[in-house]
Amino acid sequence: MALRVAVVGGGFAGAAFAIHLVRLASTPVAVQLIEQRATPGLGLAYDSTDPAHRMNIPAAPLSTLYLDQPEHHHDWLEQSGALAADPDMATPRGRYPRRATYGAYVAEQLNQHAQRPHAEVQHIRARARSLARDAVGWRVTQEDGGVVTADAVVLATGHPPAAIPGPLAAALAGDARLVPDPWVPGALDGIGPQEDVLIVGTGLTMADIVASLRSTGHCGRIVAVSRRGLRPLGNPILPPTPWAGFGGDLPRTALSLLRRVRGAARAAMAAGEPWQMISSVVHGSGQEVWAVLPLVEQRRFLRHLGSFYSAHRFRMGPQVQQAVEDALISGGLEVIAGHVRGVQADGVGISVTLAPARAPVGLTLQRRVDRVVIATGPTPGATIAANPLLAAACEAALLRQDALGLGIDVDRNSQVLDVAGRPQPGLYVVGPPARGIFGDLVGVPDIVRQAQTVAARLLAGG
Ligand SMILES: Cc1cc2nc3c(=O)[nH]c(=O)nc-3n(C[C@H](O)[C@H](O)[C@H](O)COP(=O)(O)OP(=O)(O)OC[C@H]3O[C@@H](n4cnc5c(N)ncnc54)[C@H](O)[C@@H]3O)c2cc1C
Repeated sequence: MALRVAVVGGGFAGAAFAIHLVRLASTPVAVQLIEQRATPGLGLAYDSTDPAHRMNIPAAPLSTLYLDQPEHHHDWLEQSGALAADPDMATPRGRYPRRATYGAYVAEQLNQHAQRPHAEVQHIRARARSLARDAVGWRVTQEDGGVVTADAVVLATGHPPAAIPGPLAAALAGDARLVPDPWVPGALDGIGPQEDVLIVGTGLTMADIVASLRSTGHCGRIVAVSRRGLRPLGNPILPPTPWAGFGGDLPRTALSLLRRVRGAARAAMAAGEPWQMISSVVHGSGQEVWAVLPLVEQRRFLRHLGSFYSAHRFRMGPQVQQAVEDALISGGLEVIAGHVRGVQADGVGISVTLAPARAPVGLTLQRRVDRVVIATGPTPGATIAANPLLAAACEAALLRQDALGLGIDVDRNSQVLDVAGRPQPGLYVVGPPARGIFGDLVGVPDIVRQAQTVAARLLAGG
């Protein structure tokens, strides 16, 4: 009899897991992928039709689905005709395809694996609502009443939605000039070419919004605001040479981590090397470092260094970087460190009061805009509460929030811990909801590695 695995969430992480399960299995496996989107494998990131949305990492070696074939995605781009159709993906920094193209790659690989003789992969287009375990295994019940029974369940439910900052939520509730989720297809379509826009958030989502707007001829002013006003940085032109890293001597505090990374970056730059080589290695050994940092230091890191880490680690692809730099140089984009203190909306526009960071108390900036777009990223702490399935499983004591409040508590094998901290047999998490335990678990390479590890463990009877 086939090993029956239900995967809840058929975004990138769920698809990567299914691919590796089939790839590694030598006996029959039956995967039921529960995903409401029409095409599994795309998820939030790659279910995009906007040509301005591009990968932020080069195809080789970072966005391969197979760690033992670092050129796989890079070569696929040529073989599939994607490169010929979009020659702009080729840059001196590597190939940076559209995110839709990456989605097509993942979906195609999933389809190919679904056709293997020992595999059965079924897409159940539904939203899972509850989870239960009995003597024979797991039951996942969908909102439409359908039930999937399985020997194991993998939760790959992805990111929680962004939260709307209080003053904006109060003043613009139900107002069409507020775009709460820029990833909804067509969300930016209503923004006129001359309209002025406030973007709340200055990370990669802000960069994508600027690239999207400018690619359609938008020439209004854009103001972007976040607490620290840190923008994502770019990738180096030359491939960075590896840094030896931390060796066996891993930092045990957030401060020593910061000091060592800064020291290494200074030394690299003095030797004419790009600083990104340090950032890449820090990312490469990030999970190892995270595992030895005590909880109090992990908290300290998130509080004081998290946004600096993100700005250096989650870098822009060259095409998006160009769009952002053009907008900055032309004066069309203003980035402000601070927060939204007040909002007044009337029939002709939206007046926003911003409180700049590091400014004398009481000093504010006024900006008048036509539209507001929320780009604050996943709401910390909302992974479980925002997903009815996870909230119900938490209430049923099957899972709990991790100690940092970032997602679902799991052990080092990605196995879910119940409310009493006991590993749940056959219940796993793949992707960002497990990042409280693994640290950096957001980008493609980290998710692929974890998906492969969990697949191997499950097949080994774990
Ligand atoms: C806009 C964006 C761009 C990115 N770009 C890059 C990049 O260029 N390079 C890179 O390395 N990383 C990038 N990332 C990061 C990374 O690829 C994502 O974090 C990754 O896609 C996460 O995949 P996921 O499957 O965990 O989550 P998601 O893509 O969010 O997928 C989760 C899926 O689960 C489904 N789901 C949730 N709950 C249920 C339920 N109860 N029942 C059924 N289905 C459910 C949802 O419908 C969703 O499709 C990007 C992320 C985002 C958001």
